[in-house]
Amino acid sequence: MGRLFSQVDLDLLRKYDRPGPRYTSYPTAPLFSSSFSAGDYHQEILNTNSPAVTTDLSLYFHFPFCDTLCYFCGCTMLVTRDRNRIEEYNRYLKREIAAIAPLLSPLRRVVQLHWGGGTPTHCSPDQIRDVGLAIHSAFRVAPEAEISVEVDPRELTRDHLQALRDSGFNRMSMGVQDLDEQVQRAVNRIQPESMTTKVYMWARELGFGSVNMDLIYGLPFQTLQGFERTLRKIVEYSPDRIALFNYAHVPWLKPHQKLIRQEDLPAPDLKLALLKMSIEYFCSNGYEYIGMDHFAKTTDELALAQKEKTLYRNFQGYSTKAEADLYGFGMSAISHFQTVYAQNTKHLPEYYADLDAGRLATRVGYRMTNDDLIRKHVIMRLMCDLELDVASVEERFGINFEETFADSLGMLRAFEEDGLVETTGRRIQIVGSGRLLLRNIAMCFDAYLDAMLKTKPIFSRTV
Ligand code: SF4
Repeated sequence: MGRLFSQVDLDLLRKYDRPGPRYTSYPTAPLFSSSFSAGDYHQEILNTNSPAVTTDLSLYFHFPFCDTLCYFCGCTMLVTRDRNRIEEYNRYLKREIAAIAPLLSPLRRVVQLHWGGGTPTHCSPDQIRDVGLAIHSAFRVAPEAEISVEVDPRELTRDHLQALRDSGFNRMSMGVQDLDEQVQRAVNRIQPESMTTKVYMWARELGFGSVNMDLIYGLPFQTLQGFERTLRKIVEYSPDRIALFNYAHVPWLKPHQKLIRQEDLPAPDLKLALLKMSIEYFCSNGYEYIGMDHFAKTTDELALAQKEKTLYRNFQGYSTKAEADLYGFGMSAISHFQTVYAQNTKHLPEYYADLDAGRLATRVGYRMTNDDLIRKHVIMRLMCDLELDVASVEERFGINFEETFADSLGMLRAFEEDGLVETTGRRIQIVGSGRLLLRNIAMCFDAYLDAMLKTKPIFSRTV
């Protein structure tokens, strides 16, 4: 059993289940505003890139296309089988790289690079090599960089994976979701177990240093028995990391989710039981619960970094790379460095038109205040370290913690009374089932939450 889980307390999870952000950023994306323009983003890049700047870089590339629609999908994606459309998109992606790379200090090294989507492996092997080459030609990628890609085992060939290895990729994350055939049919994602096995074997043969598998709980027709079979098989594969996502049924935001019938979804109690079973199973079989849906082998660098308090969190999830400046490329991609967030347009024609006009494709963004920086730090440390050293926050930001966070500490009291948070001296620690309620605990420190929940019903439920 993992260090901190003796038993998952379902009553407490039920009590705290409510809509809330996932805190891949703070402030969260709904606060980004169109008053932040492409010109502002361009100027920020210039302001933060004198030739002597050496801060590490993290690059994200968004590949929006998919072969078919998974009904549960919550990503920014487009279905196409037209190879020319993919080719056209990649041309624009390379133009965006060519527009931004020369603005960055040549001393900066890329320590993290990620391709997400959509489905990056919907590109052909040649297209993968082509974009990979453009990236490596434009940036200084460090030899030890963490280079990761999201792969869809369906329609994937060994040559796709070879092309990724040739382009420097050393980590991959593969979608599995659930191995049960009835569940797969209900969500329009048919992926036989033999296919998952084949791709996993290829990844190992080709030397991907770290393999992650994605699962989802809360999908139609899931049962305890069926999902237990999936969990057992996943542990047999022995991936380095496992992500177990909560299916967020938000058809008012993602209309295609109406293709999933409400009556086929597991009832809230079954959903919680699926979560409890999964956590207990993984934590009894060599995995550590890192937090926010992520498990890693106890020997994996994510688990080690958490113990050493060197874990970070960004739009791609947990990371061992210290806060490198993030530059995002492609439609909908988000960049974040220093005190700004900037997000590209989510609409393909606009993305193309902006680049054709010689502009960057930024549509919204945000400039952080000093208060935002403090709160972001507190939320990040709680979500990564599962504890907070109050004195270090005071020292870093020159504040009196109890005064600044009087309201937050008041809200935290309920968590303390329920045994989810412990405050000893000047240390706030998340304990027991509190690790499953990180979002809720972080929400106590979010200055914008109340206003956001009133005006924008956009967040998924926290459990
Ligand atoms: S492959 Fe991924 S991005 Fe594409 S539809 Fe399925 S879940 Fe969405």
